[in-house]
Amino acid sequence: MSKLEQTLSIVKPDAVERNLTENIKTIFLKNNLIVKESKKIHLSKEEAAEFYKVHQSKPFYDALCSYLSSGPIMVMILEGENAVSLNRKLMGATDPKNADENTIRKLYGISIDKNSVHGSDSLDNAKREIDFFFRN
Ligand code: UDP
Ligand code: MG
Repeated sequence: MSKLEQTLSIVKPDAVERNLTENIKTIFLKNNLIVKESKKIHLSKEEAAEFYKVHQSKPFYDALCSYLSSGPIMVMILEGENAVSLNRKLMGATDPKNADENTIRKLYGISIDKNSVHGSDSLDNAKREIDFFFRN
């Protein structure tokens, strides 16, 4: 069953730095995800830590927060049918080495930490993440 959803996408610092934002947006648009709102921001480490707090017990948490706050990011609200799972599919696996052909992470990811994009993993997290960036 298809449902109209919104999800949050982040073009991470490694990809913004390499000017990949437009290429990544093009992949979304070609796959019927429209960009409803977007903004380029540079998070503080504290803001990154708040955003990624679901990962606070993980060994990579500190490095992840340092990385996300290391440079500008592009945050986007994507909208479309089944936007949450469709975006995850277009992103590919967390580790670019394991990502399917033609996914964003396969095309552009450098490593498991510099993997170019973030995408909400559930509808509930999409709502929380959209609120985090756009509704305060
Ligand atoms: N990450 C990492 N090392 C790991 C696992 C994850 O640096 O062993 C980073 C990676 O950048 C990933 C982010 O932490 O995108 C969040 O991890 P998650 O498991 O939620 O992956 P995602 O949902 O981004 O695919
Ligand atoms: Mg995740």
